[in-house]
Amino acid sequence: VVSAREPDCLFCRIVAGELPSTKVHEDELVFAIRDINPQASTHILLLPRDHIASADDLGADHGELLGRLFEVSARLAASEGIAADGYRVVTNIGRNGGQSVDHLHFHLLGGRRFTWPPG
Ligand code: 5GP
Ligand code: ZN
Repeated sequence: VVSAREPDCLFCRIVAGELPSTKVHEDELVFAIRDINPQASTHILLLPRDHIASADDLGADHGELLGRLFEVSARLAASEGIAADGYRVVTNIGRNGGQSVDHLHFHLLGGRRFTWPPG
């Protein structure tokens, strides 16, 4: 498997182990870490191992990856003890969407009730 990687990407470097992180899950498609600036008692980032800039770049070829991202989200929500009360999975896209790291990531947030719409 050839892994698509951007040398200057923060999350590519974390997946490669070049930068430290608090890993909570890894498999052949997905790498999950605790957010460095948590916005809830559970705040985990789920990253594809391969570099994909954002959800704007997803298509039909990414079905397995997307299924895995949600499957791992659900498994981590259970192990974090937030599944029963509910939680949020969100991905920000581009500047107006609030994306600050240009490597696709899902935020898994739980442990409190979130408002809708987000600020
Ligand atoms: P975005 O704003 O792109 O949706 O989310 C980026 C997230 O990455 C933010 O919640 C931010 O706190 C987190 N983050 C930024 N740099 C690092 C880092 O070096 N390590 C970890 N674990 N999280 C980071
Ligand atoms: Zn990357």
